[in-house]
Amino acid sequence: MKEKDFGKLTDDFDREHLWHPYTSATHPLPAYRVREAHGCRIVLEDGTELIDGMSSWWCAVHGYNHPVLNDALQEQMRKMSHVMFGGLTHEPAIELGKALRRILPEEFTRIFYADSGSVAVEVAMKMAVQYHYAAGRPEKTDFVTIRSGYHGDTWNAMSVCDPETGMHGIFGPALPARYFVPSPRSRFGGEWHQEDIVPLEEMLVSHHESIAALILEPVVQGAGGMWFYNPEYLRQASALCRRYGILLIFDEIATGFGRTGKLFAWEHAGVKPDIMCIGKSLTGGYMTLSAVLTTDDVAQTISDNYPYAFMHGPTFMANPLACAVARASIGLLLESDWKQKVLALEAQMRKELAPAAALPQVADVRVLGAIGVIETKHPVDMAFMQRRFIEEGIWVRPFGKLVYIMPPFIITREELSHLTSSLVRIVSEMPAEE
Ligand code: PMP
Repeated sequence: MKEKDFGKLTDDFDREHLWHPYTSATHPLPAYRVREAHGCRIVLEDGTELIDGMSSWWCAVHGYNHPVLNDALQEQMRKMSHVMFGGLTHEPAIELGKALRRILPEEFTRIFYADSGSVAVEVAMKMAVQYHYAAGRPEKTDFVTIRSGYHGDTWNAMSVCDPETGMHGIFGPALPARYFVPSPRSRFGGEWHQEDIVPLEEMLVSHHESIAALILEPVVQGAGGMWFYNPEYLRQASALCRRYGILLIFDEIATGFGRTGKLFAWEHAGVKPDIMCIGKSLTGGYMTLSAVLTTDDVAQTISDNYPYAFMHGPTFMANPLACAVARASIGLLLESDWKQKVLALEAQMRKELAPAAALPQVADVRVLGAIGVIETKHPVDMAFMQRRFIEEGIWVRPFGKLVYIMPPFIITREELSHLTSSLVRIVSEMPAEE
């Protein structure tokens, strides 16, 4: 493989002035200049094409630069890009709402549009607290969650991220202290161990009077550990929540829209939450939009009692461009054979990532739906990895000990084979010693 001139693919202004996520402002990891992206390819400034293994952090399920999504956006832009949602409404918001109602359980009658995943989590948590306040239980203001979770970067979302793996450890004393229980160790597809639920039960027995809700990512824990757990946990957790008068919030921001092989991950357990957050691939990765769905019970309790309105209302709520592209993206997904495609990606990744399990560098390999994870024994050297990924013509962004891929659903068999074989090869090049 010809050595690349990486200097030409980065940018001095960017390095000196633009802060990138989770890297130093003064000694940043390289940020490669992207010229364009189409289908499953990200094209760098010099024309190098990378096969995308990330869907831009779970979002671009249809790939990049999709004509149907482009058209939806352009058509809406000609009518209006934005109007406030206070006192006004519009077709894109209404039509997206109808589309969501068609794919979500009937019980989710109420839809609150928000700006991003983190904001959706804030909204869901506020909704749970206001629900109990409205029902005459103002003391229920706290939250319980499971370890290894990740729910976003804003204040309350950070407070329910794993205090160690959730990337917000240093904010510990500044954040509201929450109740944490161990995340279930029973693997997805493996045997269920009843002891997994005991810490949650004990926690609820002791603290249910102050707890408003249990919040968790159903089945797949994302940025807090890329862990897939047994859906039985959700069934039992849901029963405990009901018994102790605690709302159940599912964060489906990463798992929604087919990623796990079901349209939404709760379907693996058959357990519906009281409040559900969606985002990321809601717009097919085009722009930021999220939504919080809830039941008549929650909405009515909030609305029938002082202050008679849910106290949240972002400036860009239900942005028409975002709603229009989201509606088009849901249409595309439903018209496609997404389920067969995701199951085919799952089968292919299972087969092609399996050899990694035998490598001395590797602790575990797991695949669920269109998510493939290689967990290494030691944290990866990001600078080395990034460089090798680009040399191999793939785009992957590991963190800690987790080298993982969640490609756009439109990836071809050949592209995925290229991605998986390069990935396994690069992991095998890591130092194997302690
Ligand atoms: N919840 C989960 C499960 C996520 O994976 C993320 C994003 N990684 C968020 C919430 C936060 O979403 P956003 O980055 O859009 O604020």
